[in-house]
Amino acid sequence: MHKYGDCSFCGGEVKGEKVELDYRYKGKLYVFQNVPAGVCQQCGEKYLTAEVAKKIENRIQTKQKWDKTIAVPVDVFIEGVVV
Ligand SMILES: [Zn+2]
Repeated sequence: MHKYGDCSFCGGEVKGEKVELDYRYKGKLYVFQNVPAGVCQQCGEKYLTAEVAKKIENRIQTKQKWDKTIAVPVDVFIEGVVV
């Protein structure tokens, strides 16, 4: 029995890896690197254990100084405009 079970989207094998994770919390986007997560080998879906998810929210709430802040490009799709 492995930690993450099979992928709930495609049924593929989910393996434990260290990943970069985008995490949205209260409208803000955070990036966490080197996060232990399960990654589906077939479709790439990421799975977090409840423990890791809790840790991430705890860090967002308590962390004072972040290692890095990056600018994220944003594009708003406008319907009917063909690029
Ligand atoms: Zn999958």
